[in-house]
Amino acid sequence: MHAHPTPTPGHPIRVAVLGSTGSIGRQALDVAAQNPDLVKIVALSANSSVDLIARQAEQFDVQHLAMGRSDSAAELALRVPDSHVGVGADAVEELTLLDDVDIVLNALVGAAGLRATVSTLRAGRRLALANKESLVVGGELVTSLAKPGMMTPVDSEHSAIYQCLLGEDPRDASRIWLTASGGPFRGRTRDDLASVTAQDALKHPNWVMGPKISIDSATLMNKGLEAIEAHHLFGMDYDRIRIVVHPQSCIHSMVEFSDGSVIAHLGATDMRIPIQFALSEPRRWSAPVEPVDFTTIGQLDFENPDLDTFKCLAIALQAGRDGGTTPVAMNAANEVAVAAFLKDRIGFTDVDRVVSGVLDVHKREVLESIEQVEEIDMRSRESAESIVEQVSAT
Ligand code: MG
Repeated sequence: MHAHPTPTPGHPIRVAVLGSTGSIGRQALDVAAQNPDLVKIVALSANSSVDLIARQAEQFDVQHLAMGRSDSAAELALRVPDSHVGVGADAVEELTLLDDVDIVLNALVGAAGLRATVSTLRAGRRLALANKESLVVGGELVTSLAKPGMMTPVDSEHSAIYQCLLGEDPRDASRIWLTASGGPFRGRTRDDLASVTAQDALKHPNWVMGPKISIDSATLMNKGLEAIEAHHLFGMDYDRIRIVVHPQSCIHSMVEFSDGSVIAHLGATDMRIPIQFALSEPRRWSAPVEPVDFTTIGQLDFENPDLDTFKCLAIALQAGRDGGTTPVAMNAANEVAVAAFLKDRIGFTDVDRVVSGVLDVHKREVLESIEQVEEIDMRSRESAESIVEQVSAT
């Protein structure tokens, strides 16, 4: 299964970090700083955070850089004189193709991460995938490009499932139990949620994450996206993916096998662990985390998700089952709605209204090409934006 060598001191794994100034990117660089003999950072990309990426480039001595915005790229080129600074999505793709890259960590946000996922896999490169949206929208187009052992999930639940399946025959896995913390609004009613603010929604109880995924966790859209991600990564029917709310987030997910045995993955709620595992696998490296102390855990709780309150989850699961281009439209609508909520243009419960509104007019097509995905993504964003305008005007 593992076609790639394990990094050893003197032979570090060479990593391109896409989205290096975001939450996952920064934590990936923490892992690199903790393991300088084992990890070498060779390329970085960011959208517009010039100060931070300049410091990262200096700290890790990185010459290959890309910026989303051209004004930021020009500024960065002045700040890091010996570097090559590219601009835009094409430059990010070029980083995935550099000769000295062993693995690409795709920590871009949203469907914008699709092209980098595709170029990495087309080039036969290893991919550490934190950008779940590229699987949600690209589906089979992406999985068909991934040779066995070349794509490792970084999403904590999927890393857990991936680890539970190591050494197992996937045909013996009968069910995936995808755990959900329930987010900051677990136990609230729809009426309670009408007036919550972005500030409230950004306070995740267990994990440190960026703003987009924090809002997705509050609406439970994140768990819907993760079910679609699990469906594609592990080839599991939706009927065999169960979502269970587990507020302590102590169990990161579980796999049930044909003999009724369940293997669970537990550990610290620290994203640096799944990031590190994607680089170290099949070995493990020591990590500066607080180990789980089973004598102090007390109790672990499990409950069904509340699909009536958190409609985004129900919508996403149905979109996953519908398949084709439906998840593309749903994801695009969600990205627009989340951005609007973060800017206080719409309310929290308007997020699922925008997503349903876009899906109501979307005409499902069979998934055929990346270009088609990008086209539908763009049209669905326009459709979502017009619904946001209507909602914010009332
Ligand atoms: Mg996750």
